Amino acid sequence: MANTPFYVPKLRDNGAWADYRNLVTGGFGWRYDRALTKVRFVANHHSVTQPTFNTKKDVDNILAIHRANGWGGIGYHFIITSEEVNGKDGLRYARVAYVGDIGSVRAHTPNTKGALGLKAGFGNEDIIATCMIGMLHQKNPTDAQIRSAYWLYRELVTQEPTRLPNLKGTLNAKLHGHSTFDPTACPGNWNWQKPRIVNYTDPPKIEKKTEVRLATIPFTAKTVDAPDIPKGEERVIQEGADGEKQVTWEVTYTNGKETSRKIVSEKIIRPAVEKITGIGSYVEPEKPVEPPVEPPVEPEPTNPWEWLVYIIKKLYEALTRK
Ligand SMILES: [Zn+2]
Repeated sequence: MANTPFYVPKLRDNGAWADYRNLVTGGFGWRYDRALTKVRFVANHHSVTQPTFNTKKDVDNILAIHRANGWGGIGYHFIITSEEVNGKDGLRYARVAYVGDIGSVRAHTPNTKGALGLKAGFGNEDIIATCMIGMLHQKNPTDAQIRSAYWLYRELVTQEPTRLPNLKGTLNAKLHGHSTFDPTACPGNWNWQKPRIVNYTDPPKIEKKTEVRLATIPFTAKTVDAPDIPKGEERVIQEGADGEKQVTWEVTYTNGKETSRKIVSEKIIRPAVEKITGIGSYVEPEKPVEPPVEPPVEPEPTNPWEWLVYIIKKLYEALTRK
């Protein structure tokens, strides 16, 4: 009986790997062993059973059907179940059960079409078979199933060049639906499934972190009219001074690179002091200009009487002059 240890590190690390070979009849083989170098392709099947969301129940359903076929165990090597787990990396994975040793020939893909250069009727010797749980002719597999399928097939096709040298290649070339080899509707809409499996990439990892930083609040400046400062002069009435604030940012990282940041809150530690400059407007009031005092012009006497008064007045002025 073949006993080929195999696991997918990515699935095991995320709690989505289960080795069931010990738990199901014929897990290590019931027909005959094969050399791993025989393996050239992977065939993807669907179960045409309802999802139970439980690895053991899904596997038991398949085992019951295949035992009813008269087989000594499950016809596939791997079952991509309907039980989903939250991986450590934050993504959802469908649990994958290793149910039939890959060093054993099962009963899954006879290759009646003689496809891809394989001998017609002997596909089971050259193919690793996987089965997705579900009625995939009615409903496409879940995102978690696509994700787990990708990691399983990637491991088989690209990470095992020593043990599986003839399976080494690209997923596009090495991964096929059952219908490539036999006239069957299995595994449902393969044209929908295959590109999603082959081109799968992890969604970008988004992380949000909080950053607290001190920031300067620059002071502002204004001018005011200053009636107590002479016009044409400017004087600083109040010196400006920068303030300080604590700014809390939310920074978003996508795959470890900063992609955006926004301010969540601000706390003023010390407010800024505004600079105030006074623009002088004081003007000294002008003194009124007094007209020069002119001595009254005395009229010339015009008749003797006036002459008499004039002479007396002059005499009096002369006598009283100091
Ligand atoms: Zn099939």
